[in-house]
Amino acid sequence: MGAPTLRGMSYADLRELQTALTLAADLASGLQQAPSRQDADRLVDVLRHALTTAGSLGSEPDPAGGPTGCAAHPHGAVDPLYGDPEDPLPPGYGKCLLCNDRRRRADARPHPPLRRSA
Ligand SMILES: [Zn+2]
Repeated sequence: MGAPTLRGMSYADLRELQTALTLAADLASGLQQAPSRQDADRLVDVLRHALTTAGSLGSEPDPAGGPTGCAAHPHGAVDPLYGDPEDPLPPGYGKCLLCNDRRRRADARPHPPLRRSA
């Protein structure tokens, strides 16, 4: 898997997913009792396209239109660790430095530190 896309998915991508799923449903319901290889291939193509589009939806970096993708701090600082392969952010962390700092502080309380060195 590659790095998250910078642009992220837009409403147009969601529409594309819905279109692909509708097309897949149409194709599937239009299949005869013994679908041909060609029918199956076409269905697989459409489903694969839907799957790819759906998989990209989660990367949603820009719902607020700012660089952080954060609704509370759309124009705040981006966490420098975001996208760092050496020291990846924990799951659930976003691009917003302010929110990540808050998460780090909250995480530091209930769990013992997992890092070997500070
Ligand atoms: Zn934030």
